Amino acid sequence: MADERQYDWASLGIDVTKPSIARTYDVVLRGKDNFEVDRAFVDEIAKIVPEIYDVAAYNRQVLGRGVRYLAGEAGLRQFLDLGSGLPTVQNTHQVAQSIAPESSVVYVDNDPIVLAHGRALLAENEHTTVVTADVREPEEILAHDEVRRLIDFGRPVAVMLVGILHHLHDDEKPQRVVDTLMDAVPSGSHLFITSFCASSQEAVDAEVQYQGLLGTGRFRTPAEIERLFAGLDLLEPGVVPLPLWRPDGPVPNELTVGHRLMYGGIARKP
Ligand code: SAM
Repeated sequence: MADERQYDWASLGIDVTKPSIARTYDVVLRGKDNFEVDRAFVDEIAKIVPEIYDVAAYNRQVLGRGVRYLAGEAGLRQFLDLGSGLPTVQNTHQVAQSIAPESSVVYVDNDPIVLAHGRALLAENEHTTVVTADVREPEEILAHDEVRRLIDFGRPVAVMLVGILHHLHDDEKPQRVVDTLMDAVPSGSHLFITSFCASSQEAVDAEVQYQGLLGTGRFRTPAEIERLFAGLDLLEPGVVPLPLWRPDGPVPNELTVGHRLMYGGIARKP
């Protein structure tokens, strides 16, 4: 586990007194780049949704299946991974480059800890980079030198908003964020979204904890998540609970609260 006292975290812009989204996600992925305050937050969520660790795993698994589809069948070679989180196993560049080694991947996150730990990733190859930026300012991301260096906006791009849009309030205009990004990429580009979903009473209770302790976002309904793809061709099977999106193996007959806590899908820009 990371030690609050080990470094001058504040000099890196890292606040160890409040939970952060990236670090709490690291907790549920059973990573080691998190602090006591993050683990305490997850303990509270686990009281409401004991399956929260499985939910994180479903999200990582669908991220892997989605990127495999995008780099494989869809033939994409450029990935803009927004709200990328701390490096973990089977990151976007590892999945995409295992299919096409020339794939470019730009990771974007607004938490400075992602850049601090992402440097190891940076060293991994010349087609991968990490940028600190805020998805609520999509124009700045699109204009960013590092983004422009690795992404050619004349060729199709996989725009990934995986596990992030539920951290945006309605007045932070998630639809505007999506539209600005998708307007900047050509036909054949794809949009990949997963999001917490207000799909049960437990989800609604967990949302209250998220808003209270992290101060961010809203869990949306399946219909609201589907509307984010407006104007794009939604691929089969549509916007569904994550374990049901093109599963590699058999899926359970009855879905639990945890199976239904996050929904997602992929669409193609016509
Ligand atoms: N995309 C990864 C995945 O699905 O496995 C990580 C998801 S993690 C739950 C959400 C990430 O979004 C965190 O690392 C957090 O720092 C980042 N994030 C939240 N709000 C953001 C914003 N406004 N701009 C950029 N990144 C943001």
